Amino acid sequence: RAKAEGRGAYRFFESQMDSDVRERRMLEAELRQAIAENELVLHYQPLVSAEDNRPSGFEALVRWNHPIRGLVPPSEFIPLAEQSGLIKQIGDWTIEAACKAATLWPGDFNVAVNLSARHFQLSDIVSVVSDALAKTGLPPQRLELEITESLLIENPDEVIERLNRIQALGVTVAMDDFGTGYSSLAYLLKFPFDKIKIDKSFVTASSEDAVARDILRSIASLGRTLKIHITAEGVETLEQVEFLREIACNQLQGFYFARPLEELDLAGYVLANAAPRLEARATPPGPP
Ligand code: C2E
Ligand code: MG
Ligand code: MG
Ligand code: MG
Repeated sequence: RAKAEGRGAYRFFESQMDSDVRERRMLEAELRQAIAENELVLHYQPLVSAEDNRPSGFEALVRWNHPIRGLVPPSEFIPLAEQSGLIKQIGDWTIEAACKAATLWPGDFNVAVNLSARHFQLSDIVSVVSDALAKTGLPPQRLELEITESLLIENPDEVIERLNRIQALGVTVAMDDFGTGYSSLAYLLKFPFDKIKIDKSFVTASSEDAVARDILRSIASLGRTLKIHITAEGVETLEQVEFLREIACNQLQGFYFARPLEELDLAGYVLANAAPRLEARATPPGPP
């Protein structure tokens, strides 16, 4: 009896697996089509200076504007794109689209782009970046690339060599989700990151937990020692803003300031939050 049941369970499992594979193939085909039909969109979340709360840049965050399912978050398709290799097309598109968008913004704000480790492995990433800059005319100093430490696990020497070439173009290289990996500190010594983005889990915990606050304080002081710019992500409350400013983080990002904005809403946000920076630029004279 046990044997028969076992076989039944096995058959069930097998057909379940078939349908998972089918579902994944379908999604993959849809995603391939989405790229061709321009269904991917970028939203932009402000990165604000801790000193004066004004935006100094925006992080591009990809969404899939699906005709039926609506806006699909990256967590639901980036892993699939990484498994299938489609991340190469998505990543190439993202870098160029973000650079292009930034050239049209009302101000010389930086644009930060997330780079998947898999994309990095699959393509000549230095050329992808320099081609995007050449094609769009974005000054390299305005581009930041956010990478996670998963990138440095395999072939660290080769990765470091390529990151050095990207930095030599004038592009900023940031370590994203700092503190969530196994060897975040070790990697800081191996590669000269320009910037660290402290993972939001520490910021969230800091509201309740004195140890989390001590860790944040240590990271901020480490940043000063190594002369690395420190950004805190996932900032949601005024209390967190005040604490992060007190420990001298350089830049803040989170729902407290703004959620990721649609491209169309960016100019309005800038107008409302970055006026002095705008005034510094040549603006057409208004009515007296
Ligand atoms: P990330 O780069 O660490 O981006 C931060 C994520 O946290 C974003 O989610 C953002 O919307 C969210 N967030 C920002 N502030 C707050 C806050 O105050 N509270 C909370 N709870 N969340 C906040 P999103 O857009 O869903 O992106 C998730 C992850 O997907 C990103 O994490 C990044 O790793 C990846 N991703 C996004 N866009 C791209 C892309 O164009 N390419 C690649 N390769 N990965 C991307
Ligand atoms: Mg990021
Ligand atoms: Mg992050
Ligand atoms: Mg994060």
